[in-house]
Amino acid sequence: MTTETATERHPADPIISVNEVSFRYGERPVLEDVSIDVEPGTFLGLVGPNGSGKSTLLELMLGLKRPDTGSVTLFGDRAHEFDDGKRVGYVAQNVTETARDMPVTVREAVTMGRYPHRLVGRFSRADRRAIEDAMDRVGITDLASRRVGRLSGGQRQRVFIARALASEADLLVLDEPTVGVDAESREEFYHLLHTLNATGLTVILIEHDIGVVTTYATEIACLNRRLYFDGDPDEFVSTDTLAAAYGTDQHVIHHDH
Ligand code: ADP
Repeated sequence: MTTETATERHPADPIISVNEVSFRYGERPVLEDVSIDVEPGTFLGLVGPNGSGKSTLLELMLGLKRPDTGSVTLFGDRAHEFDDGKRVGYVAQNVTETARDMPVTVREAVTMGRYPHRLVGRFSRADRRAIEDAMDRVGITDLASRRVGRLSGGQRQRVFIARALASEADLLVLDEPTVGVDAESREEFYHLLHTLNATGLTVILIEHDIGVVTTYATEIACLNRRLYFDGDPDEFVSTDTLAAAYGTDQHVIHHDH
């Protein structure tokens, strides 16, 4: 058999492949002819002005929307047919605000990420260890018994990441994760993402703070309906792509580490 199937994927194949994708909401074109591959181990920062199609592109990448033209694959499958949800941790925009009303503890919320692994409805010792490890890796073990709704925005953000880690996701996708999070917590949060990425997790995120994202990401994609740039963060800040995509002079605040 020479037919390609998901199980025959090579480990170095792109996790996501977006090929010549266009998308409109009704008559309004939102994405035009966008092509981008996300390789395993990448930390991709997706930037662009408000309304430039970033969230829409993420939703297309995750198969939550279908392109009008072009194609998207996720782990080698057509994205909208992909059904191994535990491989992907998705923290949508505003999810931490919604979580204010979550009547569960941190440990319970993280445990939800482990449900797809349970055998005959029971957690094994390995499952329980995975849940504790996930909380430990993001530094929320001390908060395990606290109600999620009582936490700060930054702490809630970590709960969602721990939930993805508990499910042993290979890909973590975050839409503006640091909105409403103070500058210091934002830096700490990026350090955490950097560490997780260094241990093999592929990360994609939308971030409006270009200074912080270009400091930590390994790749920048700049969108404004079309893809203006896809490549090295240093190259991105040293070219005039930013002004071209945003239509104004942008000043990047550099974060030295
Ligand atoms: P970004 O994430 O870069 O802010 P979005 O992908 O959210 O951009 O939105 C791109 C454009 O599509 C915006 O002009 C937005 O108003 C519009 N849009 C987003 N969602 C919808 C929708 N469900 N229906 C119609 N228009 C939408």
